Amino acid sequence: MAYSLNQKIKDLEPYEPISGTYKIRLDANESPFSYTDEIKEKIAEAVKTIDYNRYPDPMAGELCGAFAEFYEIDKNLVTAANGSDELISIIETAFLMKGEKLLFIAPDFSMYKFYSSICEAECVQVNKNAELEITADEIIKAIKDSGAKCVIFSNPCNPTGQGLGREDVRKILSSVDALVVDDEAYMDFWNQSMIGETEKYDNLIVLRTASKAFGSAALRLGFAVANEKITKALKAVKSPYNVNSVSQKIGAIVYSEKDYFRKSLESIVYNRDLLYNGLRNCGCMCDDFKVYATVTNFVFIKTSMAFDIWKYLLSKSVAVRYMGEYLRISAGTDRETSVVVAEIESYLKKRE
Ligand SMILES: *Cc1c(COP(=O)(O)O)cnc(C)c1O
Repeated sequence: MAYSLNQKIKDLEPYEPISGTYKIRLDANESPFSYTDEIKEKIAEAVKTIDYNRYPDPMAGELCGAFAEFYEIDKNLVTAANGSDELISIIETAFLMKGEKLLFIAPDFSMYKFYSSICEAECVQVNKNAELEITADEIIKAIKDSGAKCVIFSNPCNPTGQGLGREDVRKILSSVDALVVDDEAYMDFWNQSMIGETEKYDNLIVLRTASKAFGSAALRLGFAVANEKITKALKAVKSPYNVNSVSQKIGAIVYSEKDYFRKSLESIVYNRDLLYNGLRNCGCMCDDFKVYATVTNFVFIKTSMAFDIWKYLLSKSVAVRYMGEYLRISAGTDRETSVVVAEIESYLKKRE
């Protein structure tokens, strides 16, 4: 007798972020800022009250309350999860039957396709144009032509850094029957959120995360916001104790530290602009170095030298994300930003 892994998982590889240690990490779109000592103190006090022998609150009430208050929405429309990754997995698994179609808009976040391969939904892909843009009408047409039951996209988009405005998303929502999953992991850096409009639509789920703008990737906290009917379904299909008590406690503190996180957000956007302008200057030195506009905390670049630049930066202990003919660089601190720009400049000068 011999057990063999099934077709859909036998060739999968564990997710491997770049290995090794680097002085400057700009490869995962994390915030460069950890918590202040004052916030860490508050957390230390708060975790003292946790009953470690008890299961966590399955509805993460305090956490969802703080999240809802931060965004000024109804807390009853919020579902908390172990990272928005868990929500993507739950949505693709539970809201689609085997063989039903799930639409992606490429290039986009790699996890959408990954989870669909496990849940046996059929993927349909529509591509953005050479400028990495797509219109609402093109998305609507792709949904209708394919008969997709669900479309999922990041808005603004990881990795392109560009986004669909609210009017475009509204138009998609009201033109199709499909479930529209609007992954707003980077919307804290832009102002076109649909988070306040989920009650108006029967087919909208907005995803948010604490991993990027809130500098809390370590906690693994993600959120879905949707109307009551969809929220009830999400809460019913998630595993009951998905968010641990420690993350719930800390997350509730994070979302109530409004002033600190708003300031931190401003610094990230300021550094993003420094990074963007610095890289645009690099682009002026060389035709083969295209820098895309961005409304996120990272900058996306197209160049045939992507691999060589990536290797060169690693040799200088700077990690960025390499993706085929593209590089994606997250905004770091001012110093990290000036180092990465200076290194790329020096790379481009050397090859002249
Ligand atoms: C980083 C990111 C997430 C966040 O995932 P978490 O599991 O909440 O850390 C979700 N969607 C996109 C597009 C991302 O880039």
